[in-house]
Amino acid sequence: IHRQMDELSRKQREFNAITENMQEGFILLDQRGTVLSSNHSAERFFRQENRKELRLNASAELKQAAEAALTGQHSEQLLEQNGRIYQLVSNPVIVSGQVNGGVLFLIDVTEKEQREQLRREFTANVSHELKTPLTSISGFAELMKDGLVPPDKMKEFAGDIYRESHRLTDLVGDILKLSKLDEGSTYPEEPVDLYDLSMEIADRLAPEAVRHGIHISVTGQHCTVQGARQILDEMIYNLCDNAIKYNVSGGTVKVHIERTGSKTKLSVADTGIGIPYGDQNRVFERFYRVDKSHSKEVGGTGLGLSIVKHAAQYHNAELRMESTPGKGTTITVVFPEKL
Ligand code: ADP
Repeated sequence: IHRQMDELSRKQREFNAITENMQEGFILLDQRGTVLSSNHSAERFFRQENRKELRLNASAELKQAAEAALTGQHSEQLLEQNGRIYQLVSNPVIVSGQVNGGVLFLIDVTEKEQREQLRREFTANVSHELKTPLTSISGFAELMKDGLVPPDKMKEFAGDIYRESHRLTDLVGDILKLSKLDEGSTYPEEPVDLYDLSMEIADRLAPEAVRHGIHISVTGQHCTVQGARQILDEMIYNLCDNAIKYNVSGGTVKVHIERTGSKTKLSVADTGIGIPYGDQNRVFERFYRVDKSHSKEVGGTGLGLSIVKHAAQYHNAELRMESTPGKGTTITVVFPEKL
């Protein structure tokens, strides 16, 4: 009897240790719906005023979940409390084909729900952004097909179709890049000289800079980081591209690379239009644009800075932004000591 008692209390301690250390709430019911056992997390959530122990009528949802379990059904529902979202899951305990009790779990799913919400918003935004150029293209093509465009306007219409289809290609390209970063894919890593890479990008963007009357330069030291070349390329390219697009004629774009202490810093500074203070926190969000028509005019997709943000996160790098409306913007990427 002693040995059995020892064994039973050991099992009880083990059970308590598991349930009390769980983040999830846990409630065990007998077949009449009496609470046999519950852990701290569940009690904290459902505790009624002036009551120590947990009762099933602590909340309507809890009662409903218990009823479902005791009638042999699995149920799931979402609850909201103090700005967090919880999933309440109930399952019957079945012994020899009979419902013998129920188990309820309470799981914090706030992050998961927020991610899903973001995904839903992203899908809605993508569909909207794709629809706009497609509607223009089909509109122009329809007019041309029906012979409603005078021959001297033909070139202009074809140019519009060409421009809109270019926008579509850019948009799809950026969406693909983002979803690849979202998937958490890993890329081949290698030592990348940020100075050389920036020079290469500045060369690629030189015609664009000349067209806008902007002078682009790269200064600083040769600093090497261990990273994914393709992603670093996209990040620096997007920063420089924005610094040119949102600049003023005669302005400059300066890319500077330096190592301070154990950190490597890459900054892109422009003398452009700057970002209003109220928008500075939001420009890294997908499809967020300060001035939608201006962004479209200069060929923006609204995804450039989201790609920059993801690329920095991929390399555990920190992003800093300083911007003064009417004066210019500096975005700095600070790479950690060791990638
Ligand atoms: P877009 O494709 O529209 O350029 P981004 O995600 O790259 O999208 O940037 C989001 C918005 O942030 C832009 O529409 C623009 O309003 C603003 N922005 C980005 N970079 C700069 C900059 N260097 N100077 C001023 N505004 C900028």
